[in-house]
Amino acid sequence: MTAPTAATNVEQQQLSGNEQAAQRWSQALMDNFGVPPVELVSGSGAVVTDVDGRQYLDLLGGIAVNSLGHAHPAVVRAVSEQVATLGHVSNFFTHPTVIELAERLLDISGVRGNGRVIFGNSGTEASEAAFKMARRTGRPRIIAADGAFHGRTMGALAVTGQPAKRAPFEPMPPGVEFVPYGDVSALENAVDGTVAALFLEPIMGEAGVIPAPDGYLAAARRITAEHGALLIIDEVQTGIGRTGGWLAHQKAGIVPDVITLAKGLGGGMPIGAATALAVLRTIETDGLLDHVDALGKHIATGVEDLGHPLVGHVRGAGLLLGIVLTENVGAGAALAARDAGFIINAPAPDVLRLAPPLILTQEQADSFVAALPGILDAAAPPAPARQITEKG
Ligand code: PLP
Repeated sequence: MTAPTAATNVEQQQLSGNEQAAQRWSQALMDNFGVPPVELVSGSGAVVTDVDGRQYLDLLGGIAVNSLGHAHPAVVRAVSEQVATLGHVSNFFTHPTVIELAERLLDISGVRGNGRVIFGNSGTEASEAAFKMARRTGRPRIIAADGAFHGRTMGALAVTGQPAKRAPFEPMPPGVEFVPYGDVSALENAVDGTVAALFLEPIMGEAGVIPAPDGYLAAARRITAEHGALLIIDEVQTGIGRTGGWLAHQKAGIVPDVITLAKGLGGGMPIGAATALAVLRTIETDGLLDHVDALGKHIATGVEDLGHPLVGHVRGAGLLLGIVLTENVGAGAALAARDAGFIINAPAPDVLRLAPPLILTQEQADSFVAALPGILDAAAPPAPARQITEKG
């Protein structure tokens, strides 16, 4: 072994496991989201463990992905049994679990007999498919909301209302226009017979957990129907029990033309019908919709009742919650939370997001609420110079 390598080995031995991982990551992976400072190596339920043996309560669940937490027996069993039975099946064949899952999704959406499913591997692909459906109308214009997030492939990015994310990749696929989220008259002005589709999230997750104002989704349904435009509801972050019902838009009593799903549906896999069926069955048999609704309200009340000067209010629904802060200390608070053993993030400078596994217990939730004042005190003011890296 040559001297420089030996020296490097000595240096490496002095670094923690997390630091070594960050160093190797920065040399091997593209820097699109920055270098993550913590390496997770295992998880059980809502608790994850890093390479140095530190445990965290995972209040983000990937980002609203691990709906049943980590290593849930139903998911482990479904994946193991499926790969031991039959692997990938091409589009030349049907497959029983695919049909069963499609039927279940139509039931959940309330459109069995009047709707069809197409499967992909991610939320951004779901947005792409919806984008293509819009193009198939033959109409030139697509409307989406300022601040919206629909994914990072080109079609999904084109309808993402965050100019900084689009700018490096321009030109975008043409024809997309943006309106302010929640503004009914802006929709009335924008939508006419030239509009193919309107993309909307029921709660804008990446923009800072911003729920649609009352009546907005119903107005969007009415206006698009009047002009024969598709209403595409993005349930990638809000769907599959996240907000305490199967799908967030159902509370508005509307039926969209297109619904996109991903994240929680696969329970941590880039979907696969067997896993998704296991997720849906577990949500049902374990009564998780009611649990999510009750626990979300419990957390929101608990956080607001803290009376901490940095807590404004809590918004969102079920277990997709945004703690709106009175100062822009979200990034510092997310970092302080991690130091205290809780994984959360700040999708906006003044918002902390919780999107934990739906199996989070009340005791686990309470441990976070009890720790929050200390986390906020550590974060402000002044906000730490180090910034937590955001995915969104
Ligand atoms: N749509 C919404 C509302 C999302 O929140 C996301 C991801 O955060 C996406 C689409 C893209 O999903 P994916 O990351 O699975 O591609």
